[in-house]
Amino acid sequence: MSRYISDALRDFVAKRAMLRCEYCRIHSQSSFFSFHIDHIVSLKHGGLTNTENLAYTCQICNINKGSDIATFLEKPNTPVRFSIQE
Ligand SMILES: [Zn+2]
Repeated sequence: MSRYISDALRDFVAKRAMLRCEYCRIHSQSSFFSFHIDHIVSLKHGGLTNTENLAYTCQICNINKGSDIATFLEKPNTPVRFSIQE
């Protein structure tokens, strides 16, 4: 399982996201910090390095998400799995 993300794959993910964080939607030009390419399902949980499992993220979202694969939104006992928007 590869951790390496090629420049072409990084560019594809960034363009698909229209240079906005795929979690909070902030534009990369509005952020002081550089953006990351996040494995939605982390490598340690078996996630792959492919377009379906990569998200363009701001540093704050990526650091706070860590290797989590879901969160709780409005219903406290109903986990919502992270995924990219189509
Ligand atoms: Zn964000």
